[in-house]
Amino acid sequence: MARQSVRESAARSYARSLPIAPALASGAIVTGADGRSYLDCLSGAGTLAIGHNHPEVIAALRSTLDSGAPLHVLDMITPDKDAFTAALLALLPGELRDVAKVHFCSPAGTDAVEAALKLARVATGRSGVIAFSGGYHGMTLGAVAVSGSARMRTAAGTLDTGGIGVTRLPFPYDYRCPFGVGAPLSAELSAHLLATMLDDASSGVGRPAAVILEVVQGEGGVIPAPDRWLRAVREVTAERGVLLIVDEVQTGIGRTGTFWACERAGVTPDILVAAKAVGGGLPLAVIAYRPALDVWSPGDHTGTFRGNTLAMVAGRVTLEVVTRQRLPERAARVGAVLVEGLRSLARRHTMIGDVRGRGLMIGAEIVDPVGDVDELGARPAAPLLAAALRTAALRNGLIVELGGRADTVLRLLPPLTITDAEAQLVLDRLAAACAEVTAG
Ligand code: PMP
Repeated sequence: MARQSVRESAARSYARSLPIAPALASGAIVTGADGRSYLDCLSGAGTLAIGHNHPEVIAALRSTLDSGAPLHVLDMITPDKDAFTAALLALLPGELRDVAKVHFCSPAGTDAVEAALKLARVATGRSGVIAFSGGYHGMTLGAVAVSGSARMRTAAGTLDTGGIGVTRLPFPYDYRCPFGVGAPLSAELSAHLLATMLDDASSGVGRPAAVILEVVQGEGGVIPAPDRWLRAVREVTAERGVLLIVDEVQTGIGRTGTFWACERAGVTPDILVAAKAVGGGLPLAVIAYRPALDVWSPGDHTGTFRGNTLAMVAGRVTLEVVTRQRLPERAARVGAVLVEGLRSLARRHTMIGDVRGRGLMIGAEIVDPVGDVDELGARPAAPLLAAALRTAALRNGLIVELGGRADTVLRLLPPLTITDAEAQLVLDRLAAACAEVTAG
């Protein structure tokens, strides 16, 4: 770790907040080079849906390595790619199922977001995008331009949204409601505002190519969109010929209690973005979209690393395991236990201001326990307390990260395969961490 801090970039992130050198990993357990074991509630930032080194993934990877199959194929077809694509198509939401076109992207969520934005522009002949405050879509210039965080956009030099014409609208965030009214009115107002901005010729927005959103904002602080809001956004965009891009990079593959987060509201996007868990822990990113949008030309979104055989094998096995073991339902059930446990912890520790989430995408917003309560009942953010809690959790053998405004939301993203006993241990360790932080 000392050598890493000398050799690697100042932009390294998790390596700073989680000073561990992972040496072994299995399921939800990571063991550091120092021999200490941790329960992993970060899971590669929500990537490891079926945990570290799942035996079925490892066996399939071994047999692929031994088979002599090409490991790098650009975007040519192979039996492994064919099998992955079939498995993915069969699991797509709503009207996309079995009929969508799939584009393999460079293997990161951010490149798939770029592809979605480019396709929307090509398919509509328009260039603007509506994105939501608090959204996170990646680190490349287009993706960061549609993300909310000023810090990340400043780092990219695109505080002006990089010339891609982004209009930002408020996301219905109940705890710190941008309209000052809280639920359920905030969802109604947000959807109404979207329709007004699109219809009013003097709104300054014009007709954009697309609206991009996360169904549960992840990095933005685990903020679930109400179902009726999502349905309203779908209706408003469909009626006006504006494409809906749903970024399921973090929410996809069972994480939120349904296979895709948008399925809960019965909403089907025009373009679905998937990465992280879709590659079973190895790098893979795709977009899937309505066939009618497939108007781009050969090479419009190309890249060298779009044909990673091992990722397609790990991804196919992961899709199979998630489906066979009904892991979305498991995520919903275990997630409800964790939320309930956190809420009971919040009753003992005022520094937990809000607990929210869907499935195994859970957040606890850490606030100043003695700060003044605002008119909606929220206390001021407490970034130092949140960081102290993350450190205390690590001391107690629990890996958790922070997200949200000012990094004040403690996030739980365990593997969907986490056992009931491990989930109880997560709560016990968080309780111990809270007690330590409260005791100062
Ligand atoms: N979209 C969302 C919703 C994400 O959570 C992330 C990553 N946290 C990305 C896009 C970017 O993915 P990647 O880090 O693989 O580029």
